[in-house]
Amino acid sequence: MLEIVSLQKRFGENLILRDINLKVARGELVFIIGPSGSGKSTMLRCCNRLEEPSEGDIILDGRNIMSGTSRDLDQMRLKVGMVFQGFHLYPHMSVLKNVTLAQRKALGRSADEANARAMDMLDRVGLAEKANAMPSELSGGQQQRVAIARSLALDPLVMLFDEPTSALDPELVGSVLAVMKDLKSKGMTMLVVSHEMEFARETADRVVFMDGGVIVEEGAPEEIFGAPKADRTRAFLSRVR
Ligand code: ATP
Ligand code: MG
Repeated sequence: MLEIVSLQKRFGENLILRDINLKVARGELVFIIGPSGSGKSTMLRCCNRLEEPSEGDIILDGRNIMSGTSRDLDQMRLKVGMVFQGFHLYPHMSVLKNVTLAQRKALGRSADEANARAMDMLDRVGLAEKANAMPSELSGGQQQRVAIARSLALDPLVMLFDEPTSALDPELVGSVLAVMKDLKSKGMTMLVVSHEMEFARETADRVVFMDGGVIVEEGAPEEIFGAPKADRTRAFLSRVR
């Protein structure tokens, strides 16, 4: 579904990503761990060209997003949903408006169509009754679930999550992870950067450990957490646990 091929990213003189290769199959949840500065966010951002790769290809559903017109790129960007640490909701718009705006602007859906899709997605994240609330009236966990609903409403093929729970108070983390787990159970393809190792153990198909801009090792959660092969993986895990 998503394939990262020989990806390199340079910032000036610094080679931040060095030959990253990763395949994410349809319906798979790949969980990414690694020290701060190892390139996790940069890699995710390259997947929809929020960050422009220096070398390599990103193949989404059989199409290379590195080739094609800028119009093709706009179309493909919509197919890659992204949820960040912060929620980035429009503060002056209701929850419903936040979830319908991009559907109307980018997909050209009618108001009725966008509203119906938004209500479905808000229901899915457990927030249908908050449709008319303003973002400031919601908890951080609820805001993050709205951000997820907003992404889902655009019918992405893949969802990328970059530390979606890191900004949340501990008691709010669970509700967001529950939504992600539900998404996975419904077959969404997901690439998740997070420190929630317990979630990874329960939900991830594969865990990828990155360090210094390379994938050091990858494997099933029980392999990576239970019997890591590389010294660097072991050292990292002993620090975060
Ligand atoms: P964290 O766990 O702290 O979020 P990360 O693994 O997501 O870290 P990245 O944010 O991808 O790491 O950063 C990887 C490296 O790239 C860092 O050394 C960072 O300083 C550098 N970097 C990231 N963005 C830029 C940029 N726009 N310009 C220059 N250097 C950058
Ligand atoms: Mg990061």
